[in-house]
This record gives sequence, C-alpha cells and structure tokens, in this order.
Amino acid sequence: MLAGRADPCPMSDEHHHDSTSAGCCATETDHDVIVVGGGVAGLSAALMLGRSRRRTLVLDAGRPRNRFAAHMQAVLGSDGKAPEDLLATGIEELRAYDVEVRRAQVTAVATDDRTVTVHTAEGDRITARALVAASGVSDQLPDVPGLSQRWGRSVLHCPYCHGWEVRDRALGVVFTSPLAPHQVPLVRQLSADVTAFFGGFDDGTGSAGAPVELTAELRQRLQAREVKIVTEPVVALHGEGGDLSEVELSTGARVPVEAIFTGAELREQAAYLDGLGLRRAQSPFGEFLEVDPMGHTSNPRIFATGNLTVPTGNVPMSLGAAATTGAGVNHFLAEEDFDDAQQPDRFWENRYGASAQSWSGNPNAALVAEAGDLAPDSSLDLGCGEGADVIWLAGKGWQATGVDISTIAVDRARKAAAAAGVADRTAFSAVDLRTFDPGRQFDLVTASFLHSPVDLPRTEILRRAVGWVAPGGRLLVISHQPGEHHRHHLDLPTVDAEVTALDLPDEAWSIRKQVIPRTVTRPDGTEIEHCDGIVEFSRRAGTSSGT
Ligand SMILES: Cc1cc2nc3c(=O)[nH]c(=O)nc-3n(C[C@H](O)[C@H](O)[C@H](O)COP(=O)(O)OP(=O)(O)OC[C@H]3O[C@@H](n4cnc5c(N)ncnc54)[C@H](O)[C@@H]3O)c2cc1C
Repeated sequence: MLAGRADPCPMSDEHHHDSTSAGCCATETDHDVIVVGGGVAGLSAALMLGRSRRRTLVLDAGRPRNRFAAHMQAVLGSDGKAPEDLLATGIEELRAYDVEVRRAQVTAVATDDRTVTVHTAEGDRITARALVAASGVSDQLPDVPGLSQRWGRSVLHCPYCHGWEVRDRALGVVFTSPLAPHQVPLVRQLSADVTAFFGGFDDGTGSAGAPVELTAELRQRLQAREVKIVTEPVVALHGEGGDLSEVELSTGARVPVEAIFTGAELREQAAYLDGLGLRRAQSPFGEFLEVDPMGHTSNPRIFATGNLTVPTGNVPMSLGAAATTGAGVNHFLAEEDFDDAQQPDRFWENRYGASAQSWSGNPNAALVAEAGDLAPDSSLDLGCGEGADVIWLAGKGWQATGVDISTIAVDRARKAAAAAGVADRTAFSAVDLRTFDPGRQFDLVTASFLHSPVDLPRTEILRRAVGWVAPGGRLLVISHQPGEHHRHHLDLPTVDAEVTALDLPDEAWSIRKQVIPRTVTRPDGTEIEHCDGIVEFSRRAGTSSGT
C-alpha cells in the first residue's frame, strides 16, 4: 500500500507513471490474448485487439484454407488479389500495434480461473488472459483421380468466390451432401450450361452413394431451368494442368464440363482444444464449437471465430465475424479489469505493476520527524509500499518489518533493502491487512498514509494494530487530512475522528495528535498545499492494550 514517497495519494494528479497500457493491468501473463491461426479471421481479430492496446500474439501454422487458389474474389478492396498478399498486408498493418505474428503449431491449451496456457509443437509454453481460436477447417476431398490438383482452380467450392470467372462455361455441380441442390440455382445464375451430378464421387472406397434422392418433383424443378441430370457417380477428372475438360462416370462415359462446384468434407482444425470440453452445436454442415454472437465459447477465456465456427463464411464474412470477436474479447477483458480493480490485491498489484517505481524512495517526512529520536528496537510498518520507511528505520538501527498487500511492492522493498545494505535488519511480507495477524508485538507500529480507494477497513485494522504494540511502545498513524485536493476519491477521517473511533482507555494509552501543512510541487511546477495528520498512540508501560 502507500508509504515512502513524496506524494502518497494513490489517485492524485501529481502521481505519474510510464504505463503503455492505460494503467492496467499488472503483467501476470505473457500476453493479454493469444490468437491461434493467422488467416484472415485471426489477423482481423488481432487488429481489433492490437488497436485496443491488448498485448496480442498470433500463432499460425501457415496453411490458410484458400492457399490452393491463385486469386481471391468477392473481397471488397482486395478483389482479385492473391490470398497471401492480403495476409502479408494484414501482418504489416498489425506491426503498428505491436502485434506479433509467429509461425507455430499449437498442440494443447489449458485454462484456469485467470489464465490460458498454450503449448506449441515448437516446445513453447505461453500464457494469456484469453484465447481466440481462429484455426479454420480443412477440406477433405475424396481420392478421385484428377480431383485434388484442381481444387481452387477448376474444382470450386463457392459460386460467390469463383463463379464470375467461369460464367457462361459448361459447369457441373457434383452432389456430396444433402445441401447440394441448393447450390444448383446459384450456379445456374452464372451459366445456362449446368449439369447436376446426383451420384457424387466414387473413389472406390465404397462410400459413394447419392446423398439426395432424385424425386420427380426435384427432376421437374431442375428441368424447368434446363439443368441436365446425371445419376452415375464421377470417378475421374480430365483436362490440361489445372484446367478441366471432362468428367468420367462409373460407366466410362465422359461428360464435357469446364468447372465443377462441389462441397468437401469439412474437418475442424482444433484438436488443441479437445481437453477443454467445450460445448458443441449442430449445424447443417456438421457439429462445430458453440459460440455466442461475439464468438464466446462455453469457456469464459476461450473465443472462436472464422471458418472454425462458420465454415461457409468467405473472406469478408470471416473478417467481419472475427472483428466482432476481437471486440468481444476486448470488452470481456475491459470488464474484467474493472472487476479486478475492486479487489484490493489486484488493485494494488495493478497500481505497482503499471510503472517500474511508484514512489520516490525517500522516507515520509512526518516519520523522520516523529521517529528520528526514538531508541531503535522492533518496528512494523502497515502498508509499507516499496519499503522506504522500513529501510530508513533499519538504517537507524531498528529491526524493521514491513507488510503490504502488493507482492510487486514487497519484492521491490526487499531489493531496495538489499541495495541499501539493510537486508539483515528488514523483513517484508505480502499480506492482506484485513486478515493479517503478526503473532507478536512491536515497539513501534506505523501506518503511514494507509488509505485506499478500494476496500480497506482502516479503523478495524488500526484497532487490531493497537494490540500489536508492546507495553511502552507506540502506534504512529500518519494520514492525509480531508481537504479540497482529496475530496473526490478518498473518505478521509480527521485526526479527531480517528482518535474517537479507536476509543482507547486513558489508563493504558496517552495520545498526541497534530495536523501539519505540507507543500507538494506538481510535475507542471505548480504547488499545492496538503495537510497531514499525525497521531501517536503511546502505550503505557505495564498495561494491557485495553482493546
Ligand atoms: C480453395 C478455396 C478458395 C477460396 N477462395 C475464396 C475467395 O476467392 N474469396 C473468398 O472470399 N473466400 C474464399 N475462400 C474461403 C476462405 O478460404 C475462407 O473464408 C477463409 O480462409 C477463412 O479464414 P479463417 O482465418 O477462418 O481460416 P484460414 O484462412 O483457414 O486460416 C486458419 C489458419 O490457422 C492455422 N492453424 C490451424 N491449426 C493451427 C494450429 N493448431 N496452430 C496454429 N495455427 C493453426 C492454419 O494453418 C491457417 O493459417 C476459399 C476457400 C477455399 C477452400
């Protein structure tokens, strides 16, 4: 907590630090967000996150789904661009926001209350507060001669992506799923020469079979738009290089076709999430991760987006969905930052974590004035911060203990004590004063500027601290006094109110109180007047504390 600095107010406008992340949060994880997959979805989510000052790492195996196609269509602003050029532009844009895109294969993910831990095939273990799964799907094609080498060239999955380029040609729709009939009207919109191959593909594995029954009604519907119907399965494709000229049927007959549209079997690329037991949902295209409209899965720290959740999404749809998810993740973390800020341990960890050093390193002037002439013995500082008061007392010969809720502050205090050569006369621990009990008494207990904008039952703590003062010892309370400067954010008691609240018996305690003005210079050079309250509760020798 607060001690050992020139201006001890946690919220004052004199306080300044070097945070690059808007003052939140303490660096407990390697990154705020890890994005798995650096296709268009992953990069789009990362752009939203990077621009929101989220420390974002993209891990990508480098195999985007559309890598088989030389050009990418139906993408506003990038129509006809090579897919890899769009990704390269995206990676370049992300650099401006310190987003790193790293080649890696994610193999496993674990989560706990606060952290996501990611393991990679390269041997890395990386932590973050949230994860975006944007690792897409792979297209599994039947093992039919001539098929896979034409994927993305003359064997096409989407009329919107590739239809214009093959308009007015001899086109086919090879049925591989019950949804195939829905593709025929879209293809017919592009060409008057369309053949519907009801028998699908036969790769000799016995898995072939018409996925859709050719009913009289369906036949009539297709014929009304002059769509030709073939019922035998396709067993091979023929043509020069990536071009297609004919498909071969199981009967040996060949049908002239220059491009076919067909659906591959979609395989989710998310085995690394298997251990998390995420809820799944049925869709017409199979079972995929269940997400809400922002991409949130059933695990609070895991989001999913892009083709991994909507495999029919083309590039602009995936970009848009992932931008929404990026915003969703940032919103989730921003809300969590506010929730955390109300927890005293997190509040102070964030405060100290926001800069390399929070306070001046000088002891409080009031302590120096009040304790300078005391005979050194044992001392306890409540809310010792970075330890300046404790170190000063140790330098005066005290066996000095400091406690603070922030582990970062306590760690700095230990290092500062070692640097000052008083490590052997100091002890520091990270404790929550709401429950702390030192289990012994001290000759001097200090509470310097023990104020907090988050939960701190100050009077109750001081009441217990009275019991930690040895007979003949003292409790020294140095505090901000109410005034214009502090009025907005701290509920400060006057010295009189504090004395009344502790209500110590006269026979056991003598009390001395004073209010002294102090001038503080702001960074802009202007000066402001503070009033510090000093109350010394001295325990009479040979008495019990009386509390
Ligand atoms: C042949 C073909 C052509 C297409 N052409 C077009 C087109 O012209 N226009 C259009 O709008 N859409 C087109 N699409 C659709 C387009 O490919 C998708 O919309 C888009 O790729 C979805 O983006 P994504 O980021 O969700 O997935 P992807 O682009 O597939 O990216 C996923 C990334 O995650 C990585 N990854 C997977 N697993 C891991 C792991 N464990 N660890 C790390 N990284 C991992 C992958 O290697 C990949 O780089 C085409 C699709 C195909 C199949």
